[in-house]
Amino acid sequence: MTEGKDLSCKTCGTTLHGDYCHVCGEKLLKPEDKSAKKWLGDLLSNIWMLDGKLFNSLKCLLLKPGRFARDYSQGIRKPYVKPLNPFLMVNLIYFPPQG
Ligand SMILES: [Zn+2]
Repeated sequence: MTEGKDLSCKTCGTTLHGDYCHVCGEKLLKPEDKSAKKWLGDLLSNIWMLDGKLFNSLKCLLLKPGRFARDYSQGIRKPYVKPLNPFLMVNLIYFPPQG
């Protein structure tokens, strides 16, 4: 965190006491966060790391159809990504963008 500057959350306006807002969780944006390298790293991290959530979700959808929806509706959500993400990924696989 940069000391000596008036730092407030861009989302809710709360005075920040660290790199994240304690009210809404917004991250303090630093100049290096705006670089293409950082963006690409974050994208790859979100796709592949996620503690294996994306892989677990896709594997579950392919090998045990219905389990993902059942688990999610029963509150077992930690092992999976949010349902919209695998839905969009599968749609991209089946319907690739036409250039
Ligand atoms: Zn905030």
